[in-house]
Amino acid sequence: MILAIIIAGCVLLISSMVINYESSRIRDNLKHEAFVNLLTLGARLEGEINSNLLVLRGLKAEVAINPDISQKEFVSLVDEFFESRLSIRHIALAPNLTISHIHPEEGNRTALGLDYRTVPAQFPAVVEVIARQEIMVNGPVNLVQGGSALIARAPVFVGDERSELWGIIAVVIDDQLMFDNAGMDTNLWGLDIAVRGKDGMGDLGDVFFGSPEVFNREAVTVDVILPYGRWQLAASPVGGWQASLGQLISFWLIAVLISLVLSMASFLIAANYREKLSAIEVANYRADFDGLTGLANRSYFNQQLTSVIALHRRHQKKFALFFIDLDFFKEVNDSWGHHAGDQLLRHFSKRMTHIVRNDDVVARLAGDEFVIVLKDIEVATQAELLAEKLQLELGEPYLIEGQYLSVTHSLGIAMYPQDGRNGETLLQNADRAMYEAKRAGKNRIYFFNEQLSLEVKRNVQVHNQIIEGLRLGQFEIYFQPIMDLANGQVTKCEALIRWNHPERGLVSPIEFIPIAEQTGAIRNLGDWILEDVCHSHTLMKDKGLAMQISINRSVAEFQPKGIDKRWLDTIDRYQIDHSQLIFEITESLLMDGADSQKEKVHRLREQGIRFSIDDFGTGYSAINYLRTYPADYLKIDQSFLKDVLTDEQDRTLVEVIIKMGQTLGILVVAEGVETVDQLELMRQFGCDYIQGYTLGRPMPFDQFVAFCQQHNTPQ
Ligand code: C2E
Ligand code: CA
Ligand code: CA
Repeated sequence: MILAIIIAGCVLLISSMVINYESSRIRDNLKHEAFVNLLTLGARLEGEINSNLLVLRGLKAEVAINPDISQKEFVSLVDEFFESRLSIRHIALAPNLTISHIHPEEGNRTALGLDYRTVPAQFPAVVEVIARQEIMVNGPVNLVQGGSALIARAPVFVGDERSELWGIIAVVIDDQLMFDNAGMDTNLWGLDIAVRGKDGMGDLGDVFFGSPEVFNREAVTVDVILPYGRWQLAASPVGGWQASLGQLISFWLIAVLISLVLSMASFLIAANYREKLSAIEVANYRADFDGLTGLANRSYFNQQLTSVIALHRRHQKKFALFFIDLDFFKEVNDSWGHHAGDQLLRHFSKRMTHIVRNDDVVARLAGDEFVIVLKDIEVATQAELLAEKLQLELGEPYLIEGQYLSVTHSLGIAMYPQDGRNGETLLQNADRAMYEAKRAGKNRIYFFNEQLSLEVKRNVQVHNQIIEGLRLGQFEIYFQPIMDLANGQVTKCEALIRWNHPERGLVSPIEFIPIAEQTGAIRNLGDWILEDVCHSHTLMKDKGLAMQISINRSVAEFQPKGIDKRWLDTIDRYQIDHSQLIFEITESLLMDGADSQKEKVHRLREQGIRFSIDDFGTGYSAINYLRTYPADYLKIDQSFLKDVLTDEQDRTLVEVIIKMGQTLGILVVAEGVETVDQLELMRQFGCDYIQGYTLGRPMPFDQFVAFCQQHNTPQ
């Protein structure tokens, strides 16, 4: 529609330009045509004047040789002129400027004997004619006997040298008649006609034919040349030079018509094109998606899988492929009918897409076979956890045709790249794993890789136990003292988690923290730990212990959106001075962490939380980067302390780290200090703090408080 309007607009715009141009062309044409007509008219007028003047010239020649011409001779000479089609009223001879002969005498007799010198109205003209020695046409002048006339006069000179003035000859011409004879009219060819230049004064003379208005309207003019002087003949239309209204209307009618036709045509073409496009779209959709569930079909899924593989290969990431097959679907179809079966598949698909992430791929391969690609996962455990979620939620009943129907499924998992580097192998292996799940009794999850399967199952078990353990209060924070070497006081401690497992007894964090980091349980744990540490901090304060507490924070804990704000909220709830908490992080967070994670570190630090680089020396030990780290403390990893007394290399390294810390203004904590000798060495190196068994092991809250109270008493 818009296209059609635009086209119509364009056509009209172009039309208006063309019509404009055409109008001015028509104007020019009209003027030109008028000019040509006027030229002809002017020529006719000139011809008419000249034929009248011919009489004058003839007489002039005759009188010059026969100055004493008799009335009879004169009459016979001019009589024939009166017979021809001329506009002459009368002719007078005035030798010595006094009229002696006049023809016709009829009605003019009174003029005989008139001395021009005595007629003020005519004498100046007579003098001028004599002075110029040339025929002159004056007037038109109004005549006494009525009407108007032009007076043409010629001076006659006689003698051998033609130097002696004989007198003048005057011819009085009926101007109206002459104009009629020339075919003049005040309106010709639809134009107004006028003449100016009375007394031969050209454009300076008065208008004596037609209306003076004609000259004010962009008139076309032509000069009419007189023996002496000239007239100006002009023509102009009443309404100005322009194309006629009829012409303009027809131009516009044509333009509007063309624009209508073109816009209609473009509208139709566009509509048709659009229809075709949407038909193509529908066809493409049908080719890529399954009609029943709206999920990608097998061929489209294969394409998607190929690009997912390419992407993960490039970024060296892992993904999981789920192969899902409903259990007993045939039975559902048989006993409930195909219609119910279809409904079930539709509901099942819908629920499935709601559970997975938006950018994960879900497809229906055939009948009751589905596949899911879980993009970008770090460990297989994540896949297992989602598979369990699917198993649980997809197993919930569906309301179909007023009845509740439940269905379980068997799920096989293949991991990229471990279980296959191309789509075909991955699909095959996921299918095989699914088949194993079926064989083992349906409604279960199988990994293609058995080793992995075992490991994952164990991790998931631990994950579930952690969540359960948190609920049952099986966790406890132990505190390990950290001593300031400058004054020997315990001013800091590290919070270390312990699990009082009902069957396994006290479980070390080394066993479950890495798993919790993989499964995401670390976030639940982390929340609890911060809460508990804050609580303990308040209790210590109540007991008069001003303690700075270190809390370990894993990389994964910095992932959730807004977690920094939540942590600060928790801390503020206990009204703890932010500087009293130290977050222990590893270099990997600063080196490999996402920008959003690093930003959280910076924001927390801006809020006064102190940061410590844990296990320094084991990972990157990026000494170059150290100056840019948002760190207040460095903890030399305990592995260096182990042999610091015997191993020269370790000893040098520890010493260098301490010196470096001093240079950069970062306080150094030596961890794993087990003997007094190690402690002394640290003191010697100028280390700021030590932590280790020689000072004290991690201990429960009450024990720690007692320890500090005893240790910090001034001796
Ligand atoms: P870490 O952060 O390096 O903690 C220091 C570990 O060294 C602690 O082990 C501590 O008991 C041990 N240790 C302290 N002094 C000595 C010593 O003189 N000799 C020896 N051989 N070991 C000493 P723990 O408590 O078993 O913790 C192990 C790791 O588990 C920690 O290493 C930390 O990475 C992690 N962890 C512990 N608690 C938490 C926690 O609350 N959150 C997180 N995210 N991780 C924790
Ligand atoms: Ca630590
Ligand atoms: Ca450490």
